Amino acid sequence: MPKKVPVRQCVACREHKEKPLLARVVRTPEGKAVYDARGKLPGKGAYICRSTACLERAVKSRALNRALEIEITPDVYDALRAQMEESDA
Ligand SMILES: [Zn+2]
Repeated sequence: MPKKVPVRQCVACREHKEKPLLARVVRTPEGKAVYDARGKLPGKGAYICRSTACLERAVKSRALNRALEIEITPDVYDALRAQMEESDA
């Protein structure tokens, strides 16, 4: 039996995808949003496709803000953008 891969929903396109295909943003216990590169940080998480299209959509719609109920600072988007440009390449 292959190990079952957990599935999460992208906040931008609302599609369900396997976790490795998604980037995780976490609201830390301190109430700050951070890009969770390793997917291991504690806190409430939101997921987004590793694609610049979904990222730009999330920026415009503020989907991550709404999912995590806090302000997403530009440095979080910068970190995501850098990661996704790598994935798109
Ligand atoms: Zn998506």
